Amino acid sequence: MSNAAAERQARDDTVAAVRKLDALGMNRGSTGNLSLRWPAQGQDGMLITPTGMGADDLRPQDLVWVGDDDSVVGDWQPSSEWHFHQAIYRTRPELHAVVHTHSIHATALACLERPLPAFHYMVAVAGGDDVPLVPYHTFGTEALSHAVAQAMRARDACLLAHHGLVAAGATLGQAMKVMQEVESLCEVYLEALAVAEPALLSAQDMAVVITRFRSYGRAARP
Ligand SMILES: [Zn+2]
Repeated sequence: MSNAAAERQARDDTVAAVRKLDALGMNRGSTGNLSLRWPAQGQDGMLITPTGMGADDLRPQDLVWVGDDDSVVGDWQPSSEWHFHQAIYRTRPELHAVVHTHSIHATALACLERPLPAFHYMVAVAGGDDVPLVPYHTFGTEALSHAVAQAMRARDACLLAHHGLVAAGATLGQAMKVMQEVESLCEVYLEALAVAEPALLSAQDMAVVITRFRSYGRAARP
């Protein structure tokens, strides 16, 4: 595939993922944003959704390219959250896609200033025994980017206090999967919390699951 064809495909896939977020009800008021690592012009960079555009209006050519040196190529402004997408790519070279949403259940938990603990084995989908909570910082700031990158050093997802959810993956499909799973786990956790504080799995139980998930990942590779 030529570079141009590969970029067309990447743009189409990203728009399809935004539409899916919308269909899942996770792109509340067009607040969701999504990026794909996309080196170009001799540097690392990303293709990211533009700010303030609804999923219905979004076309592949509307995605904005942002370089590692902060240069911007496109007809629109990149999402106001682009700084933390860039910070994640810089921190985790193996990650190639980042999804951010204000989905209801993850955001509700983040508004309680609670991380998602190991109350269910699937919490390991984010790569550890919790989905950490990043303290509140104003959106679009350096402080928020720094805190997100810090939280994502050893996890593929984190909650942003009084804000929402960030999930990432080696592929767009994987990032979407982690995002959906964490949102669903937050829903179950809130249901359980309404009755009592759920008991947590031990670090040892979670370590077994994390190891299994890693070996499934290896088996799935060609
Ligand atoms: Zn946001």
